[in-house]
Amino acid sequence: MRTVTGATDRVVVVGAGLGGLACALHLAAAGRQVTVVEREPIPGGRAGRLSIGGYEFDTGPTVLTMPELIAEPLAAVGEKLSDWLELKPLDPAYRAFYPDGSTLDVRTDTTRMAAEIARVCGAREADGYLRFVDFTRKLWQLERDHFIGRNLDTPADLMNLNLLKLLGMGGFRRLQPKIGEYFRDPRTQRIFSFQAMYAGLAPHDALAIYAVIAYLDSVAGVYSPAGGMHAVPRALAGAAEKHGVTFRYDTTVERVTTAHGRATGVLTAGGEHIPADVVVLNPDLPVAYRDLLPPRRRRRPLRYSPSCVVLHIGSNQAYSKIAHHNIHFGTAWKGTFDEVIRKGLLMSDPSLLVTNPTHTDPAAAPEGKQTYYVLAPAPNLKSGPMNWRGGLDRRYADELLRVLEGRGYIGFRDGVEVQRIITPADWADDGMAAGTPFAAAHTFAQTGPFRPSNLHPSLGNVVFTGSGTQPGVGVPMVLISGKLAASRITSRTSA
Ligand SMILES: Cc1cc2nc3c(=O)[nH]c(=O)nc-3n(C[C@H](O)[C@H](O)[C@H](O)COP(=O)(O)OP(=O)(O)OC[C@H]3O[C@@H](n4cnc5c(N)ncnc54)[C@H](O)[C@@H]3O)c2cc1C
Repeated sequence: MRTVTGATDRVVVVGAGLGGLACALHLAAAGRQVTVVEREPIPGGRAGRLSIGGYEFDTGPTVLTMPELIAEPLAAVGEKLSDWLELKPLDPAYRAFYPDGSTLDVRTDTTRMAAEIARVCGAREADGYLRFVDFTRKLWQLERDHFIGRNLDTPADLMNLNLLKLLGMGGFRRLQPKIGEYFRDPRTQRIFSFQAMYAGLAPHDALAIYAVIAYLDSVAGVYSPAGGMHAVPRALAGAAEKHGVTFRYDTTVERVTTAHGRATGVLTAGGEHIPADVVVLNPDLPVAYRDLLPPRRRRRPLRYSPSCVVLHIGSNQAYSKIAHHNIHFGTAWKGTFDEVIRKGLLMSDPSLLVTNPTHTDPAAAPEGKQTYYVLAPAPNLKSGPMNWRGGLDRRYADELLRVLEGRGYIGFRDGVEVQRIITPADWADDGMAAGTPFAAAHTFAQTGPFRPSNLHPSLGNVVFTGSGTQPGVGVPMVLISGKLAASRITSRTSA
């Protein structure tokens, strides 16, 4: 494994996103003197917080899987997850609503889930589900230690017996036909393959190795932290501070300073120079290269994931038929992915994620009120440049409310007390390349050793963490990315 060169005592981590926080904890555990410089007044980055009129909203992730990956950086400094976070398993993890009026509850317990699938789709489909669980469990075990949880410098690092096992399991075939080996019913096919969108791809384009995402949320379980998802970065930042990490909030880094082919520290917007032996960059990787680092001559163009529109609603309306997480599938399926990913269009027959955090945590709203988080996949600004600021944001918010009323949220519009819409233009303003918060898509050419490296190609002491680098997007992956970045600094296998 390649590692940073030279001294590594003082590390500046730019950004207190989940990647930066995990990295800071692992570095503190290894005795480094760590300063985290964050432009916002709070930690979390995409896992941020929005407070409007007594309503509290999580701004980014809502589906929390693999809490053991939160426990890991805490354990590195000797802290216990349960002392910092109260996690509630969600049951059901999701409720799926289909256009034919049927619903399917996704349950983590495989016996109960098999019974649920048998109830909705028949016994043969339930057998397929049990085989699918077996397949994805093996996939996760193989991928986690050998491909996801390791720094991969070259394709040669992939060459081991486990690669052959993955090949043998059909991991490098397309996801959609693989799903078809286990499920016949379009409803189960959808609920166990829509997660490809999290990797930035349609199920018919994604590799079958991405079935692990379905394993993580549908089989391994989904959790809700008390205080919302933002409690996760708060916990990590609190533990880091306790173990000697210095936080500089409200401090924007303008650029990384360099001399003789090495970073020497960072320059803040206030004109302060913070010296460092190593600089870790957590901002969106392409934007970090563009704005914070010396220009590079040749850069490989990236293919970006689709983006999303998020509608935050504080409401006086409650709906008894919904769960914490609800997926409302439209009738269209492949066509929806084509619209959003290939054609750069808004969905004509939307599939939507509606999260109702107050279902689990009433404290997120004034007494008796509800919060709703509606996520609509949308084209990124490269594939679908749209004038979001010219009124499209309001029109699309109205359209989403109308669609939801048609899908059973009777009186949704009348119940709205506060509302905020976040569009790809907002993600771009927040420093996310192509206006997507989901980074480079997980195509084969942008996965593992082919994804932008977490080591700068020429500055031997600049490291990246976060969703733009290895292993990839999502809370579990960026927590791992923090550990991988730290190990580039703390492992001294080569120089
Ligand atoms: C709407 C939405 C829904 C999502 N849903 C899920 C989900 O349900 N489940 C899931 O697992 N994942 C989900 N994700 C993805 C997940 O949230 C991200 O992959 C992850 O949080 C990204 O973390 P990060 O550390 O890479 O970056 P960030 O969180 O973006 O952290 C980067 C940090 O750097 C700071 N920064 C940037 N520039 C500077 C600068 N110049 N100076 C100082 N600081 C700077 C930023 O303020 C930020 O705090 C979702 C994301 C979004 C936005």
